[in-house]
Amino acid sequence: MKKWETIIGLEIHLEIKTKSKLFCSCPNQETSKPNQNICPICLGHPGTLPQLNKQALKQGIKLGLAVKGKLADFCNFDRKNYFYPDLPKGYQISQYQLPLIRGGEIKTELGKVRLERIHLEEDTAKLFHQKNNSQLDFNRAGIPLLEIVTQPELKSAATAKNFLEELQKIVRYLSISQAEMSQGQMRCDANISLRPLGDKKYYPKTEIKNLNSFKAVEKALLFEEKRQKELWEKNTPPLYQTTRGWDEKNNCTRLQRGKEEKKDYRYFPEPDLPPLKIKELEKQGIKIREIENELSELPLEKKQRFIREYGFNKDQAEVLIQEKTIAHYTEKVISELQAWLLSLETVEGSPQEIWENNKAKFSKLLVKWLIDFCLPLSKKTKKSLERITPENFAEALIYFYREKKLNDTMIKFILAEMFENQCDLDIVLMETDIKDAMNKKYDLNTIIKQVLDDNLEVVKKIVVEHKTQAIKFLIGQVMKKTEHGDAKVVEDKISEQLINYVNKFKDN
Ligand SMILES: [Zn+2]
Repeated sequence: MKKWETIIGLEIHLEIKTKSKLFCSCPNQETSKPNQNICPICLGHPGTLPQLNKQALKQGIKLGLAVKGKLADFCNFDRKNYFYPDLPKGYQISQYQLPLIRGGEIKTELGKVRLERIHLEEDTAKLFHQKNNSQLDFNRAGIPLLEIVTQPELKSAATAKNFLEELQKIVRYLSISQAEMSQGQMRCDANISLRPLGDKKYYPKTEIKNLNSFKAVEKALLFEEKRQKELWEKNTPPLYQTTRGWDEKNNCTRLQRGKEEKKDYRYFPEPDLPPLKIKELEKQGIKIREIENELSELPLEKKQRFIREYGFNKDQAEVLIQEKTIAHYTEKVISELQAWLLSLETVEGSPQEIWENNKAKFSKLLVKWLIDFCLPLSKKTKKSLERITPENFAEALIYFYREKKLNDTMIKFILAEMFENQCDLDIVLMETDIKDAMNKKYDLNTIIKQVLDDNLEVVKKIVVEHKTQAIKFLIGQVMKKTEHGDAKVVEDKISEQLINYVNKFKDN
């Protein structure tokens, strides 16, 4: 029987998309050279004055509204004082007692996670420790961040990972942040403690740092949960709060700072920035109503709707909603299919009934040709899916659905041609006799000849040195080029052609 309850709270920092930094006009963008996007303000020179970036403020409000948090009527900025070389002013401008957003919640597939707060703050410089010295890059200093703090109520490592994935999707959907963890655009610290089941007290927690992937968050929390459980079982639960770092290589957390009291940063109100009165923002051109209108359906809601309305399963819907553009593409294709169905004289019923009766067939086609073929093709070639417009894609699906004599290889050929030439179905069908064109494109003997000529060293190994195993490499190359075919047939045909090369090497 489970005896312990796990309590996890997360603190996330998001680098948000804006043109410039939070308090100066330096560009908010990556540069390969250090110390390019800097000015006296973000370098903390004396006598300079910060000025709040309205776009960053809007992004914060947008996230707050999207997660149904309470927008503060009145909030301000504070100085968080501590000394570290990455902080030129000796303090960070943040928000403490009066954050921009309070409350809110994010729905995940494993349940709802309530938020404590969301606030704006500036990022610090980047510090690089070398062997004999440390170097500072101020490009990042002053970049706007949103700090999101959850309630300490997540019950498992899996929930924490799930929450972060959902948050990432949301901020990407709303164009608030790219939120790429590996690039530091989304950073997470996780707090974890255990308590005996039924006990309502909070016990000293561990703060885990250095988590730069969703996997790392999950693994570190699982490790820490197990470590603390063992302490509880030995009757020696943690006595004070500690900070531990995640060691990816050795799959464990390591003590960074022991015995910590609550940190005292001596926050005090930032005198150089006026407090923000939300009611007065309209005058400054920040219209809450407009921001509300920018909010779209959140990814999880969209996923559930894709399952419900279009008949996809969970995994399929997940692929389709991952990116907003793909979700939009899918819906456009589906609306074309629905319009076509309605135009048929043979169908009866309300538009909804007609779709309900047909959706299984069409979602199957979409899975096969969009999820399993066109999306990977777009990813592989790094070219936009839109090379086949949703209208053309829908038209092609309808054609495939009606033309029973097309096999999968032919359909792949047609779609690949449409994608390559950015043309519609008629052009492919008109200009080419599909079978003839396929034979030309995929003529096995031509491909084999080309592969053999391109890999003469390998051919030599086989025909001169009799290293017959090397033929496997050639088979692989041919299969890759034809994208289909029977390995045995390919092997036989290669063997036939290899004979032609025996004399070639003899002559030399
Ligand atoms: Zn600057």
